[in-house]
Amino acid sequence: MKANLNLGSVFGIKIKVHWTFFFLFAWIVFGELKRGGSTGRILFNIAFVLAVFLCVVLHEFGHALTANRFGVKTEKITLLPIGGMARFDKIPESPKQEILIVIAGPLVNVAIAILLYFIVPVHELFNHSFTDTYEIFVSFTFQNFLFFLFIVNVGLALFNMIPAFPMDGGRLLRALLALKMNRAKATQIAASLGQFIAVLFLLVGLLYNPFLIFIALFVFLGAYGENQMVQHMALLKGHTVEEAMLLNISTFNPKDSIDLIVNKLISGTEINFAVVEEGKVKGILYHRQIIENSNKNILIEDVMDTNFKTVKNTDDLKSIYHLIYFEKQRFLPVVNQGKLVGAIDAINLNEYILLQSKLAYLK
Ligand code: ZN
Repeated sequence: MKANLNLGSVFGIKIKVHWTFFFLFAWIVFGELKRGGSTGRILFNIAFVLAVFLCVVLHEFGHALTANRFGVKTEKITLLPIGGMARFDKIPESPKQEILIVIAGPLVNVAIAILLYFIVPVHELFNHSFTDTYEIFVSFTFQNFLFFLFIVNVGLALFNMIPAFPMDGGRLLRALLALKMNRAKATQIAASLGQFIAVLFLLVGLLYNPFLIFIALFVFLGAYGENQMVQHMALLKGHTVEEAMLLNISTFNPKDSIDLIVNKLISGTEINFAVVEEGKVKGILYHRQIIENSNKNILIEDVMDTNFKTVKNTDDLKSIYHLIYFEKQRFLPVVNQGKLVGAIDAINLNEYILLQSKLAYLK
Protein backbone atom coordinates (compact mmCIF):
# COMPACT_ATOMS: atom_id res chain seq x y z
CA MET A 1 0.00 0.00 0.00
CA LYS A 2 1.41 3.38 -0.95
CA ALA A 3 -1.17 5.77 0.51
CA ASN A 4 0.77 8.76 1.81
CA LEU A 5 -0.61 11.95 3.26
CA ASN A 6 0.91 14.98 1.60
CA LEU A 7 2.03 17.66 4.05
CA GLY A 8 3.19 20.10 1.36
CA SER A 9 6.61 21.21 0.13
CA VAL A 10 9.55 22.97 1.73
CA PHE A 11 12.49 24.07 -0.46
CA GLY A 12 10.76 22.22 -3.32
CA ILE A 13 10.90 18.93 -1.40
CA LYS A 14 7.61 17.12 -0.81
CA ILE A 15 6.98 15.92 2.74
CA LYS A 16 4.76 12.85 3.01
CA VAL A 17 3.46 10.84 5.93
CA HIS A 18 3.11 7.10 5.43
CA TRP A 19 -0.32 5.72 6.33
CA THR A 20 1.13 3.36 8.98
CA PHE A 21 2.10 6.47 10.93
CA PHE A 22 -1.46 6.71 12.22
CA PHE A 23 -1.09 3.38 14.00
CA LEU A 24 1.46 5.13 16.17
CA PHE A 25 -1.14 7.64 17.37
CA ALA A 26 -3.75 4.93 17.85
CA TRP A 27 -1.17 2.96 19.86
CA ILE A 28 -0.45 5.98 22.11
CA VAL A 29 -4.12 6.75 22.70
CA PHE A 30 -5.07 3.13 23.47
CA GLY A 31 -1.97 2.65 25.60
CA GLU A 32 -2.81 5.70 27.71
CA LEU A 33 -6.50 4.81 27.98
CA LYS A 34 -5.58 1.32 29.16
CA ARG A 35 -3.44 2.87 31.89
CA GLY A 36 -6.37 5.12 32.77
CA GLY A 37 -4.54 8.19 31.49
CA SER A 38 -6.16 11.62 31.29
CA THR A 39 -6.78 13.65 28.14
CA GLY A 40 -3.88 15.85 29.23
CA ARG A 41 -1.48 12.92 29.23
CA ILE A 42 -2.68 11.73 25.83
CA LEU A 43 -2.20 15.23 24.38
CA PHE A 44 1.24 15.48 26.01
CA ASN A 45 2.29 12.21 24.37
CA ILE A 46 0.87 13.09 20.96
CA ALA A 47 2.50 16.54 21.04
CA PHE A 48 5.74 14.81 22.02
CA VAL A 49 5.58 12.37 19.09
CA LEU A 50 4.90 15.30 16.73
CA ALA A 51 7.91 17.17 18.14
CA VAL A 52 10.09 14.07 17.71
CA PHE A 53 9.02 13.74 14.09
CA LEU A 54 9.69 17.42 13.51
CA CYS A 55 13.27 16.64 14.62
CA VAL A 56 13.28 13.67 12.24
CA VAL A 57 12.16 15.94 9.38
CA LEU A 58 14.92 18.42 10.25
CA HIS A 59 17.41 15.51 10.25
CA GLU A 60 16.26 14.54 6.74
CA PHE A 61 16.57 18.16 5.62
CA GLY A 62 20.14 18.04 6.88
CA HIS A 63 20.79 15.27 4.35
CA ALA A 64 18.69 16.90 1.62
CA LEU A 65 20.15 20.40 1.77
CA THR A 66 23.71 19.06 1.89
CA ALA A 67 22.95 16.79 -1.09
CA ASN A 68 21.56 19.81 -2.91
CA ARG A 69 24.96 21.51 -2.64
CA PHE A 70 26.41 18.64 -4.69
CA GLY A 71 23.68 18.82 -7.33
CA VAL A 72 21.71 15.86 -5.94
CA LYS A 73 18.02 16.77 -5.77
CA THR A 74 15.66 15.37 -3.15
CA GLU A 75 12.32 14.33 -4.54
CA LYS A 76 10.54 13.71 -1.25
CA ILE A 77 10.87 12.98 2.43
CA THR A 78 8.61 10.22 3.73
CA LEU A 79 7.81 9.83 7.41
CA LEU A 80 7.32 6.30 8.71
CA PRO A 81 6.62 5.36 12.34
CA ILE A 82 10.21 4.06 12.48
CA GLY A 83 11.78 7.24 11.13
CA GLY A 84 12.24 9.37 8.05
CA MET A 85 13.52 8.63 4.57
CA ALA A 86 14.79 11.08 1.98
CA ARG A 87 14.56 10.00 -1.64
CA PHE A 88 17.26 11.44 -3.90
CA ASP A 89 17.03 11.61 -7.69
CA LYS A 90 20.48 9.99 -7.83
CA ILE A 91 22.98 8.61 -5.38
CA PRO A 92 26.16 10.63 -5.04
CA GLU A 93 28.99 8.39 -6.18
CA SER A 94 31.87 10.37 -4.77
CA PRO A 95 32.67 8.94 -1.30
CA LYS A 96 33.63 12.37 0.05
CA GLN A 97 30.28 13.88 -0.95
CA GLU A 98 28.45 10.90 0.50
CA ILE A 99 30.28 11.27 3.82
CA LEU A 100 29.17 14.90 4.15
CA ILE A 101 25.58 14.14 3.10
CA VAL A 102 25.37 11.24 5.57
CA ILE A 103 26.75 13.01 8.64
CA ALA A 104 24.66 16.17 8.05
CA GLY A 105 21.53 14.31 9.29
CA PRO A 106 22.77 13.18 12.71
CA LEU A 107 24.59 16.54 13.11
CA VAL A 108 21.20 18.27 12.99
CA ASN A 109 20.10 16.17 16.00
CA VAL A 110 23.36 17.01 17.78
CA ALA A 111 22.70 20.72 17.15
CA ILE A 112 19.11 20.44 18.49
CA ALA A 113 20.39 18.52 21.53
CA ILE A 114 23.00 21.20 22.29
CA LEU A 115 20.37 23.92 21.99
CA LEU A 116 17.98 22.05 24.32
CA TYR A 117 20.83 21.32 26.75
CA PHE A 118 21.10 25.03 27.44
CA ILE A 119 17.38 25.84 27.28
CA VAL A 120 16.23 23.09 29.71
CA PRO A 121 18.88 23.40 31.49
CA VAL A 122 19.93 19.75 31.59
CA HIS A 123 22.92 19.90 33.97
CA GLU A 124 20.76 21.48 36.71
CA LEU A 125 18.34 18.57 36.54
CA PHE A 126 21.20 16.15 36.98
CA ASN A 127 22.38 18.03 40.10
CA HIS A 128 19.27 16.98 42.03
CA SER A 129 19.26 13.80 44.10
CA PHE A 130 17.83 10.69 42.44
CA THR A 131 14.44 10.85 44.25
CA ASP A 132 14.08 14.57 43.52
CA THR A 133 14.83 13.99 39.85
CA TYR A 134 12.24 11.22 39.77
CA GLU A 135 9.68 13.58 41.33
CA ILE A 136 10.43 16.18 38.66
CA PHE A 137 10.13 13.79 35.73
CA VAL A 138 6.79 12.19 36.57
CA SER A 139 5.00 15.50 36.08
CA PHE A 140 3.90 16.64 32.64
CA THR A 141 5.58 20.02 32.40
CA PHE A 142 6.97 21.92 29.44
CA GLN A 143 10.45 21.62 30.90
CA ASN A 144 10.12 17.81 30.99
CA PHE A 145 8.82 17.88 27.44
CA LEU A 146 12.00 19.66 26.32
CA PHE A 147 14.19 17.40 28.45
CA PHE A 148 12.72 14.24 26.88
CA LEU A 149 13.19 15.86 23.48
CA PHE A 150 16.85 16.43 24.36
CA ILE A 151 17.23 12.72 25.25
CA VAL A 152 15.49 11.68 22.01
CA ASN A 153 17.80 13.84 19.88
CA VAL A 154 20.89 12.39 21.56
CA GLY A 155 19.35 8.94 20.97
CA LEU A 156 18.56 9.70 17.30
CA ALA A 157 22.11 10.86 16.63
CA LEU A 158 23.59 7.75 18.29
CA PHE A 159 21.09 5.25 16.86
CA ASN A 160 21.53 6.52 13.30
CA MET A 161 25.28 6.09 13.57
CA ILE A 162 24.98 2.33 14.17
CA PRO A 163 26.76 0.90 11.09
CA ALA A 164 23.68 -0.95 9.83
CA PHE A 165 23.58 -0.12 6.11
CA PRO A 166 21.37 1.50 4.72
CA MET A 167 21.10 3.47 7.98
CA ASP A 168 23.35 6.56 8.21
CA GLY A 169 26.16 4.79 10.08
CA GLY A 170 26.21 2.03 7.47
CA ARG A 171 26.31 4.56 4.64
CA LEU A 172 29.17 6.32 6.36
CA LEU A 173 31.01 2.99 6.64
CA ARG A 174 30.41 2.27 2.93
CA ALA A 175 31.70 5.71 1.94
CA LEU A 176 34.80 5.31 4.14
CA LEU A 177 35.49 1.87 2.65
CA ALA A 178 34.94 3.30 -0.85
CA LEU A 179 37.87 5.64 -0.27
CA LYS A 180 40.08 2.53 -0.20
CA MET A 181 38.35 0.07 -2.57
CA ASN A 182 35.77 0.03 -5.35
CA ARG A 183 32.23 1.03 -4.49
CA ALA A 184 30.67 -2.34 -5.31
CA LYS A 185 32.96 -4.17 -2.91
CA ALA A 186 32.51 -1.48 -0.23
CA THR A 187 28.72 -1.79 -0.57
CA GLN A 188 28.92 -5.59 -0.35
CA ILE A 189 30.81 -5.40 2.96
CA ALA A 190 28.57 -2.66 4.42
CA ALA A 191 25.40 -4.52 3.36
CA SER A 192 26.58 -7.81 4.91
CA LEU A 193 27.32 -6.06 8.21
CA GLY A 194 23.94 -4.27 7.92
CA GLN A 195 22.11 -7.58 7.53
CA PHE A 196 23.99 -9.07 10.47
CA ILE A 197 23.04 -6.12 12.69
CA ALA A 198 19.45 -6.37 11.40
CA VAL A 199 19.29 -9.93 12.77
CA LEU A 200 20.53 -8.63 16.16
CA PHE A 201 17.84 -5.89 16.02
CA LEU A 202 15.27 -8.58 15.34
CA LEU A 203 16.34 -10.66 18.33
CA VAL A 204 16.41 -7.66 20.69
CA GLY A 205 13.11 -6.45 19.16
CA LEU A 206 11.37 -9.78 19.78
CA LEU A 207 12.41 -9.61 23.43
CA TYR A 208 11.97 -5.94 24.25
CA ASN A 209 10.63 -3.59 21.60
CA PRO A 210 8.30 -4.25 18.65
CA PHE A 211 9.58 -1.11 16.85
CA LEU A 212 12.98 -2.70 16.49
CA ILE A 213 11.39 -5.60 14.58
CA PHE A 214 10.19 -3.19 11.90
CA ILE A 215 13.55 -1.46 11.80
CA ALA A 216 15.23 -4.89 11.48
CA LEU A 217 13.07 -5.72 8.45
CA PHE A 218 13.66 -2.30 6.93
CA VAL A 219 17.44 -2.62 7.34
CA PHE A 220 17.60 -6.23 6.16
CA LEU A 221 15.56 -5.67 2.99
CA GLY A 222 17.08 -2.24 2.37
CA ALA A 223 20.62 -3.65 2.57
CA TYR A 224 19.70 -6.47 0.20
CA GLY A 225 17.98 -4.19 -2.34
CA GLU A 226 20.53 -1.43 -2.40
CA ASN A 227 23.49 -3.80 -2.51
CA GLN A 228 21.92 -5.61 -5.45
CA MET A 229 21.38 -2.31 -7.26
CA VAL A 230 25.01 -1.25 -6.74
CA GLN A 231 26.28 -4.67 -7.91
CA HIS A 232 24.09 -4.45 -11.02
CA MET A 233 25.28 -0.92 -11.77
CA ALA A 234 28.89 -2.11 -11.44
CA LEU A 235 28.23 -4.94 -13.92
CA LEU A 236 26.68 -2.52 -16.41
CA LYS A 237 29.42 0.10 -16.13
CA GLY A 238 31.14 0.76 -19.43
CA HIS A 239 28.56 -1.20 -21.47
CA THR A 240 26.28 0.40 -24.00
CA VAL A 241 22.66 -0.13 -24.99
CA GLU A 242 23.77 -1.69 -28.28
CA GLU A 243 25.16 -4.73 -26.42
CA ALA A 244 21.91 -5.55 -24.62
CA MET A 245 19.08 -4.31 -26.85
CA LEU A 246 16.41 -6.40 -28.54
CA LEU A 247 16.95 -6.47 -32.30
CA ASN A 248 14.12 -8.50 -33.76
CA ILE A 249 11.18 -6.37 -32.70
CA SER A 250 7.86 -6.02 -34.48
CA THR A 251 6.87 -2.49 -35.41
CA PHE A 252 3.59 -1.05 -36.66
CA ASN A 253 2.44 1.95 -38.64
CA PRO A 254 0.21 4.62 -37.01
CA LYS A 255 -2.46 3.88 -39.65
CA ASP A 256 -2.56 0.15 -38.92
CA SER A 257 -5.69 -1.23 -37.31
CA ILE A 258 -5.38 -2.27 -33.66
CA ASP A 259 -6.39 -5.84 -34.70
CA LEU A 260 -2.91 -6.32 -36.22
CA ILE A 261 -1.24 -5.64 -32.86
CA VAL A 262 -3.76 -7.84 -31.01
CA ASN A 263 -2.88 -10.74 -33.35
CA LYS A 264 0.83 -10.14 -32.79
CA LEU A 265 0.30 -10.09 -29.03
CA ILE A 266 -1.41 -13.50 -29.13
CA SER A 267 0.96 -15.16 -31.61
CA GLY A 268 4.28 -13.92 -30.17
CA THR A 269 6.03 -13.12 -26.91
CA GLU A 270 6.33 -9.35 -27.36
CA ILE A 271 3.95 -7.27 -25.24
CA ASN A 272 4.92 -3.64 -25.95
CA PHE A 273 5.33 -2.25 -29.48
CA ALA A 274 6.96 0.71 -31.18
CA VAL A 275 4.85 2.58 -33.73
CA VAL A 276 7.05 3.77 -36.59
CA GLU A 277 6.70 5.92 -39.68
CA GLU A 278 9.60 6.16 -42.17
CA GLY A 279 11.99 4.73 -39.56
CA LYS A 280 11.05 7.34 -36.96
CA VAL A 281 9.29 6.39 -33.71
CA LYS A 282 5.87 8.04 -33.48
CA GLY A 283 4.53 6.34 -30.38
CA ILE A 284 4.41 3.26 -28.21
CA LEU A 285 1.56 0.87 -27.59
CA TYR A 286 1.88 -0.75 -24.20
CA HIS A 287 0.38 -4.09 -23.23
CA ARG A 288 -2.35 -2.56 -21.04
CA GLN A 289 -3.51 -0.14 -23.76
CA ILE A 290 -3.70 -2.98 -26.28
CA ILE A 291 -5.87 -5.08 -23.96
CA GLU A 292 -8.11 -2.14 -23.03
CA ASN A 293 -8.75 -1.23 -26.68
CA SER A 294 -8.68 -4.71 -28.18
CA ASN A 295 -12.44 -4.85 -28.78
CA LYS A 296 -12.62 -1.47 -30.53
CA ASN A 297 -12.50 -0.80 -34.25
CA ILE A 298 -9.80 1.87 -34.17
CA LEU A 299 -6.37 2.73 -35.58
CA ILE A 300 -3.14 2.44 -33.64
CA GLU A 301 -2.57 6.23 -33.83
CA ASP A 302 -5.80 6.79 -31.89
CA VAL A 303 -4.56 4.99 -28.79
CA MET A 304 -0.75 4.98 -28.95
CA ASP A 305 1.21 6.79 -26.25
CA THR A 306 2.99 9.73 -27.84
CA ASN A 307 4.59 10.90 -24.59
CA PHE A 308 7.50 8.45 -24.60
CA LYS A 309 11.25 8.35 -24.11
CA THR A 310 13.78 6.97 -26.58
CA VAL A 311 17.41 6.11 -25.88
CA LYS A 312 20.46 6.02 -28.15
CA ASN A 313 22.34 2.83 -29.10
CA THR A 314 25.49 4.41 -27.66
CA ASP A 315 23.92 5.30 -24.27
CA ASP A 316 25.41 3.86 -21.10
CA LEU A 317 23.43 0.88 -19.76
CA LYS A 318 23.69 2.35 -16.25
CA SER A 319 21.43 5.21 -17.31
CA ILE A 320 18.97 2.68 -18.77
CA TYR A 321 18.91 0.83 -15.42
CA HIS A 322 17.92 4.12 -13.83
CA LEU A 323 15.19 4.78 -16.41
CA ILE A 324 13.70 1.31 -16.04
CA TYR A 325 13.88 0.91 -12.25
CA PHE A 326 13.51 4.46 -10.95
CA GLU A 327 11.50 6.20 -13.63
CA LYS A 328 9.49 3.01 -14.28
CA GLN A 329 9.88 3.08 -18.07
CA ARG A 330 8.65 -0.31 -19.27
CA PHE A 331 9.80 -0.21 -22.87
CA LEU A 332 12.41 2.04 -24.45
CA PRO A 333 12.82 2.28 -28.24
CA VAL A 334 16.51 2.54 -29.23
CA VAL A 335 17.42 4.99 -32.01
CA ASN A 336 20.55 5.60 -34.03
CA GLN A 337 20.63 9.03 -35.73
CA GLY A 338 16.91 9.35 -35.20
CA LYS A 339 15.99 5.96 -36.72
CA LEU A 340 14.66 3.01 -34.74
CA VAL A 341 17.24 0.21 -34.44
CA GLY A 342 15.90 -1.83 -31.51
CA ALA A 343 14.36 -1.65 -28.05
CA ILE A 344 15.24 -2.35 -24.46
CA ASP A 345 13.06 -3.38 -21.52
CA ALA A 346 13.41 -4.75 -17.97
CA ILE A 347 13.41 -8.40 -19.09
CA ASN A 348 16.31 -8.15 -21.51
CA LEU A 349 18.23 -5.78 -19.24
CA ASN A 350 17.92 -8.44 -16.49
CA GLU A 351 19.08 -11.13 -18.86
CA TYR A 352 22.10 -9.05 -19.74
CA ILE A 353 22.86 -8.53 -16.01
CA LEU A 354 22.63 -12.30 -15.40
CA LEU A 355 25.05 -13.00 -18.27
CA GLN A 356 27.45 -10.31 -17.06
CA SER A 357 27.37 -11.69 -13.51
CA LYS A 358 28.36 -15.13 -14.87
CA LEU A 359 31.27 -13.54 -16.74
CA ALA A 360 32.32 -11.57 -13.67
CA TYR A 361 32.16 -14.80 -11.62
CA LEU A 362 34.52 -16.54 -14.05
CA LYS A 363 37.07 -13.72 -13.90
ZN1 ZN B 1 19.74 10.08 8.36
